[in-house]
Amino acid sequence: MSKATPGINPHSKPKGNGCQDCLKTGGWWLHLRRCAECGYIGCCDSSPGQHAAKHATEMNHPVVASFEPLQSWFYDYRKKKVLRGPRLLGPRWRPENQPAPGPEGRVPRDWESRLHDVA
Ligand SMILES: [Zn+2]
Ligand SMILES: [Zn+2]
Repeated sequence: MSKATPGINPHSKPKGNGCQDCLKTGGWWLHLRRCAECGYIGCCDSSPGQHAAKHATEMNHPVVASFEPLQSWFYDYRKKKVLRGPRLLGPRWRPENQPAPGPEGRVPRDWESRLHDVA
């Protein structure tokens, strides 16, 4: 059996369709990331909440997978590096009819000026 990549649990399932913390607190996100270890869904570093990065630090789960349709990259917050990884259990992405930014109805009109600049 091949050795698993640390931080990636191929048996974990995504825990929803939107950033769990934004949904709890009434926030909104630009793009979604999935914790490759436990399936937590959080928002990207450009989003106001940056919940994926916070989860990575707080839980010591350093690797996320993109949860945006058709994207298959992983990112390691500790190494600050894009990774390749195994195919995770589905659904692999948020529903395609779900808007980005999201969630529907909660995105402010001036959302673009509220993003974090992470270029
Ligand atoms: Zn969030
Ligand atoms: Zn996690």
